[in-house]
Amino acid sequence: MSFASGCKIRFMVAFCVAANIAVLPLRAEKKISVVTTLPDLASIAQEIGGEHVTTFAIAKGYQDPHFVDPKPSYMVRLQKADLFVQIGLDLETGWVPPLLDGARNPDILPGGRGFVDASENVPLLEVPAGDPSKLRSQGDIHAYGNPHYWLDPLRGKIVAKNLLDALVRMQPENQGYFEKNLQAFNLKIDTLTQRLAARFAPFNGSRVIAFHNSWPYFDERFGFDLVGFMEPKPGIPPTPRHLVAVIKKMKQAEVRVIIIAPYYSKKSSKLVASKTDAVVVELAGSVGAEDGIKTYFDLFEYNINKLIVALQTSGSPAQQ
Ligand SMILES: [Zn+2]
Repeated sequence: MSFASGCKIRFMVAFCVAANIAVLPLRAEKKISVVTTLPDLASIAQEIGGEHVTTFAIAKGYQDPHFVDPKPSYMVRLQKADLFVQIGLDLETGWVPPLLDGARNPDILPGGRGFVDASENVPLLEVPAGDPSKLRSQGDIHAYGNPHYWLDPLRGKIVAKNLLDALVRMQPENQGYFEKNLQAFNLKIDTLTQRLAARFAPFNGSRVIAFHNSWPYFDERFGFDLVGFMEPKPGIPPTPRHLVAVIKKMKQAEVRVIIIAPYYSKKSSKLVASKTDAVVVELAGSVGAEDGIKTYFDLFEYNINKLIVALQTSGSPAQQ
């Protein structure tokens, strides 16, 4: 090897090392692209991921999360995603599989390093004893247990921990940052839950009817009494026969509030309300259901305030 070519090689090595050093910080700054099914999951991911993530929610807060149109534009989002987060438990069965098929991104398929099922370690309510596929074939869309667990802020902390684990998997160098954000999130949730539970305390045990069975987790946390549903089964529209039974039950139990999400028709609820002297109140099923509900924290503030006003204005009797 001549002196000249030796110099050339040394120069090339030095150049490449320098170039690598220049490239590395740019790589580290790449944000983790998080695509979630629901806006509530995107809000929690944003709280934990902070400046190191971009988030996008497929479903909008004013849509029924059981039924979302799997548009091709969502597949494009998923194709480029680092993390995909779903509620699970069959909530998104009708629309997530076609989106994941179309996305052609093996990392975000179940079992992949970018796949997150937010229900992991979440204690579930209403898990049926029967065969889920049989229940599904009968039209029950809660065949694996009630999937609306994000409506309990304390269960939201478990979701946040699941997201932390996934974010650390993606960017281990930012573990400390994500953990700090998780601690701040948990503290904020605890403070909010205590404050809202105290505000709701005079209304503990108040009886309500809900259109769809979305509220058992919210109910468990804040302590009202869900005595029935306008739907005969989750996902089955109200029948005249069922509504007669609901009216009877509401009169017997002195129920004066019917909870409904904005995406359901209010026709049957208004009819029942007119026969029972009740009011129909729209609660938010997700972040973004109304303009003012921008974060996961806002969701609880909004729903507790709105429920209290409905219980007061309807003259709902105080319950023990
Ligand atoms: Zn449901």
